[in-house]
Order: sequence, then C-alpha cells, then structure tokens
Amino acid sequence: KAPGPPVLTVRGLSVNFGHVAALSSVDIAVPEHGVLGVIGPNGAGKSTLVDAISGFLPNAEGSVELGGKSLTGSPSNRACAGLRRTFQQDRVPPGLTVGAYLKFLARRRLTADEIGDALDFFGCPDARTPLSQVDVGARRLVEVVGHLLARPRVLLLDEPAAGLPHEEHVAFGERLRQVPARFGVSVLLIEHDLDLVRSVCDTITVLDFGRVLASGPQAEVLADPAVLKAYMGE
Ligand code: ADP
Ligand code: MG
Repeated sequence: KAPGPPVLTVRGLSVNFGHVAALSSVDIAVPEHGVLGVIGPNGAGKSTLVDAISGFLPNAEGSVELGGKSLTGSPSNRACAGLRRTFQQDRVPPGLTVGAYLKFLARRRLTADEIGDALDFFGCPDARTPLSQVDVGARRLVEVVGHLLARPRVLLLDEPAAGLPHEEHVAFGERLRQVPARFGVSVLLIEHDLDLVRSVCDTITVLDFGRVLASGPQAEVLADPAVLKAYMGE
C-alpha cells in the first residue's frame, strides 16, 4: 500500500545548545503508514530532532502536528497522544524479564499471544528471559517491540539497528518494512546503514549541520550529488 499524506508534520524546528545551533528551522513530514528515513553525518542533529519532537527539549522552537493536532507538553503527554520514541543509548533496566519490560513500555493490558507474536516477529527471546541474559542488540529490539505494542500512531527510532551484528541488518530491514501495515503505525527511522535505509524508507530527509540538506522520495534523495558529498564525505 502506498504511503498516504503526512501523519506527523514538523515545521521550523530550531534548537540551540548555547552557541551551537543543533537544529535550524527544520521541516519534516512522516507519511501515514510509511517510513521516513532521517540520515546525516554524526552531529548533524538527528537525535536532537527526536528529542525535540518527543518533548524532551521544552525550549525547542517550531511546531509539531500529529494527525492535524498540535503536539505540545511533556514526553508522557505526547506518548498519550500517540507518539513514541526509542533512545540511541541502551536504556533497558536490568532485573526485569523481557515480558515485564514489554508490559512496562506498552502501558496497557497485553495478552500472552500478542506478546509472543510480536517477539517472534522480531526474532526476540522468549518473554520469560531475563533482560540481563539478552545481548544489547536484541535488547534494543525488545524496546522497539514494547513501543509497538503500545499501538502509537508514530514511532521515532533512533538507530535501532546500531547494536545488531551487520549480518542481521537485512532481516531487521525486512521486518521493519512490514511494521506500518502490521502494527498500524508510521515510522521515523534514524539509521547509518544506507542499505538498510534503502530497503525500508519511502521518503528520506538528510540533515547536515542542523539543516535540511535534501528531502523527498528515497531514490531521488540518495542520488542527489549534494547528499553523497555531505553524507559520504566525498
Ligand atoms: P546526531 O544524532 O545527528 O549525531 P546530535 O543531535 O546528537 O547529532 O547532536 C547535534 C549537535 O548538538 C552536536 O553538535 C552535539 O554536540 C550537540 N548537542 C547535542 N546534545 C547536546 C546537549 N545536551 N548539550 C550541548 N550540545 C549538544
Ligand atoms: Mg544521534
């Protein structure tokens, strides 16, 4: 199914850290039931974008609309409105089982079947496995599953494949591509692996020094010489 009009629209987003302009008037749009890829060199402002959209930077300037409604307030307000995000760093608490952590993240009643199906889909360990026995890449997938089980409208993923061995990226990409249809969600994906981006994303926005360098359908953006120059450092 072709992605629809934007479900998440960000306009004029600006964030300063002292004298560093981490984001300067950034516009992005996540297509309904599609995947927007956000790429760019280290320090381009990708994680700051996710922090600002999800309410972790209350002083950010600009507007964020989810389903045509202005999205404001704290991260938990925004989560209630249907926006979820993961973190670039592993934040999974030790001492819980996989299943307990999923319930904590989803914040709603989950059936054992629902949990089992979602874990199987991503190739994650069984719900009874202690998180302390799960390696870092799979722990970050469990985090993704927990947010998906919350049934958000939009999920922001900050480098979800970073902890996975490279040979698992293809399988992860195949699963991620099915996520919008399977979970009824739209996705913003920050990712370094361009093969993964190419296999998953409908549209791409490129950030460079906190500004949008290019934005549009993935084939156009990835063929743009300015993008190749900035992103590949050519
Ligand atoms: P990316 O995720 O694209 O690698 P970031 O969003 O993490 O980039 O960072 C963008 C810029 O903002 C960088 O120059 C970074 O050093 C700076 N930055 C990020 N977070 C902070 C912070 N909390 N305080 C000061 N500077 C920050
Ligand atoms: Mg980052």
